[in-house]
Amino acid sequence: MKMLRDSFGRTFPYIRLSITDVCNFKCGYCLPNGYQKDKSDNRKFLSSKEIERLAKGLSELGVCKIRLTGGEPTVRKDFFDIVKILKNKTGIKKTVITTNGYRLDKIANQIAESGLDGINISIDSLNRETFKNVTGHDRLPEILKGIEKLQQLNFKNIKINAVLLKGINDNEKDFNEWSKFVKNNEIDFRYIELMQTGDGLDYFKKYHVPAKVFTNHINKNGWIFQTLGRDAGPSKNYINPSFKGKFGVIAPYSKDFCKSCNRLRITARGDLRLCLFGNTGISIRHLLQRDDQLEELKDLISKQLNFKKESHYLELGETGLMNNLSTTGG
Ligand code: SAM
Ligand code: SF4
Repeated sequence: MKMLRDSFGRTFPYIRLSITDVCNFKCGYCLPNGYQKDKSDNRKFLSSKEIERLAKGLSELGVCKIRLTGGEPTVRKDFFDIVKILKNKTGIKKTVITTNGYRLDKIANQIAESGLDGINISIDSLNRETFKNVTGHDRLPEILKGIEKLQQLNFKNIKINAVLLKGINDNEKDFNEWSKFVKNNEIDFRYIELMQTGDGLDYFKKYHVPAKVFTNHINKNGWIFQTLGRDAGPSKNYINPSFKGKFGVIAPYSKDFCKSCNRLRITARGDLRLCLFGNTGISIRHLLQRDDQLEELKDLISKQLNFKKESHYLELGETGLMNNLSTTGG
């Protein structure tokens, strides 16, 4: 089968598709002042029909997994219609989402029924006060209730992501809370190392801490490193036979992080981004307007891959086009 391949031999079975920039949370590292409409860009977000054409083209280019993200993907009124389309009309094998979970307790049933193949929920701390301080919303209990509901409905493939923040959640107390959680729940928990963004330089300077503070903790506690599958994410995972769940670490500043890159991104307004931080990104939306543009669309995406760079060069302070992760789809 045809595969998307770049000039460094990397293949791309995985797409992260933002379906909206809008978000109702105010995470300090992402949208500290909440979502603000970009007045310089009045293009609407991709419609469900445009998403359908895009996903069909991608599936014919060997993409097997699409992650819906944002902004907060579940704020879109047609969110479940989009999931249905991806599942039934496009040939994409796995559809998963990343969400802040703010309505999870209300939509757990619909999520389970939708056929979604996985859900990543962002929870920066199991401490209610810390959660509220980071996100600007006191919704941790409802989110945890939502997770319980999903488990009762036997929904598989639940992951939790937290951004590791110096002086906020990088302490033994937080690590131990997550340990207890992962011991009793068949859920993977991963810390993401804070990334510098165009808008967030001061925040980064204040709160960035290397992921090794957490890996040191798990190494001391008998966790075993696990190897990755083809469409796996960037997380290095660790298992422990006496725990139901797994731990993981996403460390974008680690040496060789980009060597295993297997994903491309598409923004909510239909720009292809070759890297979360890359300066390269073109609009592919003009080729999502009619069904007979499929071949042209596939050709454009394949050719663009020649421009994908070897690394994100984050360690040099490059942030490319990315002001915050809500616009590029974290
Ligand atoms: N709103 C959804 C959510 O929060 O899960 C989806 C979009 S959010 C941009 C996707 C992920 O990016 C979240 O897990 C969030 O914690 C992470 N993120 C946002 N800004 C980040 C940053 N500067 N560094 C590292 N991770 C970040
Ligand atoms: Fe919203 Fe997600 Fe950004 Fe938090 S990380 S502000 S929930 S888009």
